[in-house]
Amino acid sequence: MQFKAFEPNIEVNGNTVYSVVAGLGYFTNLSRRFYSQVGIGKVINKELHIDLDGWYSQDSWLAAFENIAKTVGDRVLFNIGLSVPANAQFPPWVVDVHSGVKSIDIAYHLNHRKNGTPLFNPDNGTITEGIGHYGYESFPGENKIISICHNPFPCAFDHGIITAMAHKFAPLAVVKHDDSKECRKKGAETCTYVITW
Ligand SMILES: [Zn+2]
Repeated sequence: MQFKAFEPNIEVNGNTVYSVVAGLGYFTNLSRRFYSQVGIGKVINKELHIDLDGWYSQDSWLAAFENIAKTVGDRVLFNIGLSVPANAQFPPWVVDVHSGVKSIDIAYHLNHRKNGTPLFNPDNGTITEGIGHYGYESFPGENKIISICHNPFPCAFDHGIITAMAHKFAPLAVVKHDDSKECRKKGAETCTYVITW
């Protein structure tokens, strides 16, 4: 379901919050209004300041994001998603479409924490559950990946994130939302995206 946290006591880091603020660009006033309503960031001289090293309540962040999403619509959500990887740093093993799409789930967990501990541990490569996933399934011999997304973000936003990651390594890649499968926009738990290049 879009915008509903899976568990309580999850926090998201400032860098991730900022990437959505940055992606809103033209809609800066909206992000200022909705984020400050839920206590995320400080408004100084009419500008919203997010502490990039800080941590914010995922519940509050999703509530603000939901209000923003209702106002701007899918096209803008897709564009915000597109801009997220542009604001991210990638580990050295991210070298092609496969590793790029795989890395989304790891970055997602690294940027959230539960009871003060990030949900991805880079020392042993383990993921702690609590926020859902960005899926990755490959098909030997085919330039194709299926990503089933089970997380609280809006369908169009994830479509943008996956498209940006695919285009980073395969500029002509096509990322399609599989309309024959369930969709979070209609209240379902997951969305399915098919990446081909
Ligand atoms: Zn969907």
